[in-house]
Amino acid sequence: MQPKSNIVHLPVYQPGKPIEEVKRELGLTEVIKLASNENPFGCSEAAKQAIMNELANTSLYPDGAAVALTEALAGHLGVGKDQIIFGAGSDEVILMIARAFLVPGDETIMADETFPQYRHNVEIEGAKIIEVPLKDGRHDLPAMLEKVTDKTKIVWICNPNNPTGTIVTKDELDAFMAKVPAHVLVVLDEAYCEYIDDPAYPNGIEYVKRYPNVISLRTFSKIYGLASLRIGYGIGTPEIIRYINQVREPFNTTRYAQAAAKAALEDTAFIAECRRRNAEGLAYLKAEFDRLDLRYFEPYGNFVMFDTGIPSQKVFDALLRKGIISRARWTHYPTHIRITVGSAEQNRKFIEALEQVLQELAVQI
Ligand SMILES: *Cc1c(COP(=O)(O)O)cnc(C)c1O
Repeated sequence: MQPKSNIVHLPVYQPGKPIEEVKRELGLTEVIKLASNENPFGCSEAAKQAIMNELANTSLYPDGAAVALTEALAGHLGVGKDQIIFGAGSDEVILMIARAFLVPGDETIMADETFPQYRHNVEIEGAKIIEVPLKDGRHDLPAMLEKVTDKTKIVWICNPNNPTGTIVTKDELDAFMAKVPAHVLVVLDEAYCEYIDDPAYPNGIEYVKRYPNVISLRTFSKIYGLASLRIGYGIGTPEIIRYINQVREPFNTTRYAQAAAKAALEDTAFIAECRRRNAEGLAYLKAEFDRLDLRYFEPYGNFVMFDTGIPSQKVFDALLRKGIISRARWTHYPTHIRITVGSAEQNRKFIEALEQVLQELAVQI
């Protein structure tokens, strides 16, 4: 057998460690997972009810075009119904964009480091990846612009950037869009946009309306708390959305996901509450990092990346033994840990564990 040569070296995705596995391996009864930017407050009760209402239809295929959800979302966002495409998570929208737009020889530009799914899917299509180092943990859009050639098909902008949590501002994005050639598709991955109310943060929808070569990616996995259901979406011109629809699998999102997403969208009180509690959590964590003299990148989503000053694997392992699952081992940030903002209680327990861990490790050094 001979698979595609460009996939042979690809790593299998390493997810955040599951809670049950950590409990079993370390003999712990309480484990807090702050590794995958999931919503610590769960999801809307209305979304759970919507899933239960769909159980009776389990034997029937879902609506492949997700008509009811598309209508609700188009109204919510103020875009046309032909401007939205759903995927099994925005991960699948990233996959479909790569599949629809890239052939071997094409070039695509992304930050280093950023969300790994861009690179992963580009490699599968055999296109060329041009990575531009972050500057102080932030996208360097002028440097990315300099890398654009006639062969550039896609520029990926993760805003806020995962893992660093920093944003590209309106001014920076405006300057970039003013110069980027029209043949380049600009992907704005806005997985955490619902958490942000900073006026400097650009709203991708406005760019979709102004520029025919922009697509915004969003998800129900983060603030909406529906990560297990796998549903995310892209918003672009009808032309871009049609191309992506042409490579979409017929029934790529489930009945449960569509129904829950529609209910979650309508429960605006739950989202407002999550946004408020996340902002409180961010303020608490920032103050604690300041107190502990730990540097961090300015966070905008529901996660913070901070510098422990110690090889991050050591800190990760020590936190794990205290029942905290974090995220470490970043290529360019060997001493950084990324932590999801949890509930107030989880954040307190995390800081308590971190303080102990840093003391223990300092003694060892
Ligand atoms: C979580 C995340 C996604 C994708 O989430 P899905 O669950 O696939 O919708 C996309 N981009 C970024 C930057 C993320 O952090």
